[in-house]
Amino acid sequence: MIRFENVTKRYRGTKRPALAGVDFEVERGEFVFLVGASGSGKSSCLRLILREDVPTTGRVAVLGRDLRSLANRKVPYFRRHIGSVFQDFRLLSTKTVFQNVAFTLQVTGSSRGFVQQAVPEALALVGLDGKEKRMPHELSGGEQQRVAIARALVNRPQVLLADEPTGNLDPATSVDIMQLLARINAGGTTVLMATHEAAFVDQMQRRVIELRDGEMVRDETRGGYGDRSMIPQLVPQEERGAAATAAFTAVQEVQRETESLEPLTAEMIASMKAERDAAAPEAAPAVTRTHPIVLPEVDVAELGVADRLGLSAADDDDEVGPTS
Ligand code: ADP
Ligand code: MG
Repeated sequence: MIRFENVTKRYRGTKRPALAGVDFEVERGEFVFLVGASGSGKSSCLRLILREDVPTTGRVAVLGRDLRSLANRKVPYFRRHIGSVFQDFRLLSTKTVFQNVAFTLQVTGSSRGFVQQAVPEALALVGLDGKEKRMPHELSGGEQQRVAIARALVNRPQVLLADEPTGNLDPATSVDIMQLLARINAGGTTVLMATHEAAFVDQMQRRVIELRDGEMVRDETRGGYGDRSMIPQLVPQEERGAAATAAFTAVQEVQRETESLEPLTAEMIASMKAERDAAAPEAAPAVTRTHPIVLPEVDVAELGVADRLGLSAADDDDEVGPTS
């Protein structure tokens, strides 16, 4: 479905290639995370797939087409099969939700009847039915990203590319968007998502391709991707309360914090103990974690984590749930 064959990308006026010898294949129906630090080459990969750019050497083939031999005039048709969403949503600020989603269809000459049918379907899919007449500035960030996802899906593309789609969203809303993307993938759409939030990715248990300075350093299957039995691991929208989401997020945040701590050396621990013993008991240093917290297997609602963390009362900030 998407194949990179020994792809190198060198931008004009730069010394180091942005991508070097990148080689992978994504099969139909897969969900793949493309991870790596900022500048590692994630967006460059996505631009090559969209044929916004071409490799310096190597080959990119998408949907059975070698993109190097794809004529420029055929590029717009090719792109109809690929939806894309970005960190900054890229909505048209003077158009309504409906018009934003309808826009691509109208530009590509879809009939009025088709637009009237396809746009509400796409909005319902992302949980935004009833918000057709809103303007982008009247929506939360999570809702704006849902509009962008509806727009990307309205042509029923075979592939959805998402470039840091949760980058501008708070952690709880990011969980919602991740679940939406997983649901879209469960419907058969191949999803390739670039993100630098590796801890978040590892939690989702999907295939992970990691780039470092333009080179692939990891391609991990993570237990049965493509196997639909993985999907129910995500808490269904209806059953997932805001409290459960908040709990999940809280655990993730703690994990992120502990992961960013430097590992403690024996000398550091000894000196901390000495300091603690010297200080009055009420001035004892806070507990320092020396190993990451193991996350629960997602179904936090079932585990009652929300209740245990005292987060059950947080239902009032569930601003991106489905509207009815
Ligand atoms: P990521 O999306 O992982 O942050 P990018 O693909 O945007 O990484 O960038 C990879 C490398 O290529 C970076 O060093 C970046 O500065 C460089 N780069 C990206 N786009 C261009 C460009 N149009 N011209 C020159 N250098 C670029
Ligand atoms: Mg990028």
